[in-house]
Amino acid sequence: MKKEIYVTSPLLPPLEEFIPYLEKVWENKRLTNGGPLHEQLEKELANYLGVKYISLFSNGTLELLTALQTLRITDEVITTPYSFVATSHSLLWNGLKPVFVDIDPLTCNLDPDKIEQAITSHTTAILPVHCYGIPADVDRIQSIADNYGLKVIYDAAHTFGVTKQGHSILNYGDLSILSFHATKVFNTIEGGAIISQDAKTKKRIDFLKNFGFADEVTVVAPGINGKRNEVQAAFGLVQLKHIDAALLKRKVIYLRYSEQLKKVAGIRVINIPKEIEWNYSYFPVFFDKSISYKRDEIYTAMKGVGILTRRYFYPLISSFPMYRGLDSANFNNLSEANILSNSVLCLPIYPDLSDFEQDNIISVFISLLVK
Ligand SMILES: *Cc1c(COP(=O)(O)O)cnc(C)c1O
Repeated sequence: MKKEIYVTSPLLPPLEEFIPYLEKVWENKRLTNGGPLHEQLEKELANYLGVKYISLFSNGTLELLTALQTLRITDEVITTPYSFVATSHSLLWNGLKPVFVDIDPLTCNLDPDKIEQAITSHTTAILPVHCYGIPADVDRIQSIADNYGLKVIYDAAHTFGVTKQGHSILNYGDLSILSFHATKVFNTIEGGAIISQDAKTKKRIDFLKNFGFADEVTVVAPGINGKRNEVQAAFGLVQLKHIDAALLKRKVIYLRYSEQLKKVAGIRVINIPKEIEWNYSYFPVFFDKSISYKRDEIYTAMKGVGILTRRYFYPLISSFPMYRGLDSANFNNLSEANILSNSVLCLPIYPDLSDFEQDNIISVFISLLVK
């Protein structure tokens, strides 16, 4: 049987490089609760990403929950329906009300013009996503937040290593959360980090991820267990040595797709703004309205020949049962997001994808498109 091609395949470091780190863990006899490798990974990541304050976590979803607790967010939070469900789920877990706002179809991110219209006296925060690692309109979002006294938490799960005019995109807003899940550009199997902008906030995050303990006998908040263990910290340290090479391979794949697909009629490829150094995390293709009915047929036909594409993000979060009763989940409020969700197909992109495999994906895709 022919090998199936998945939409992504995890970056794995050479096993022989991981073994000495495991030996260190055994030597230290420290398994978790902020051991030496945890500390080393925080330092190396802060340095690599160009951020000051970083708190490692066991996964991105716990970071979203904790970020909202860190800033004591209440009531209504403006967010995007065009994301992975964890974004909105974090609001429900905190007893907050998601208010969905439509997206700009070109950037796939919250439309700043529409954010302002959705603000009420109950709004306390904005939770945008940098979808596919393409930054949201951080300047306009910040100016809206400043005008109305709102906090901004970026779901930056897709945004490892992305910079704008040379500066990390993770330094915008009050907090940003990264995911190091196996499917993401940089993975530590499961994991992630919250980026904060001052030492006091980092301290609060670090208390909250450890049950709220400030010291042995003092509990300052009803914290959670979001800690990262030493084995996964070690894994991250090895991964970090290979991330630049992995990003470069992704870039080559992106350019090849882009070159071969940008002139194909009926579809549009993602647009990367000039001032952005991207991480090539996904390769979404958007079908024109006239042929968007073909999207699901093509998805199924490609699956049939062992090429597993993904419809990120379909269905919209706002259409799931726990959200669809909200006023803001109304179809008319989210027309651009609905159109995009029904017309997107993400093609496989990962460092080990060979030229041969990629050419096959492209030719199968094009042949189905013109059929
Ligand atoms: C992956 C992802 C998350 C969740 O991260 P985990 O580490 O898997 O918990 C949250 N938001 C977005 C947009 C994601 O893609």
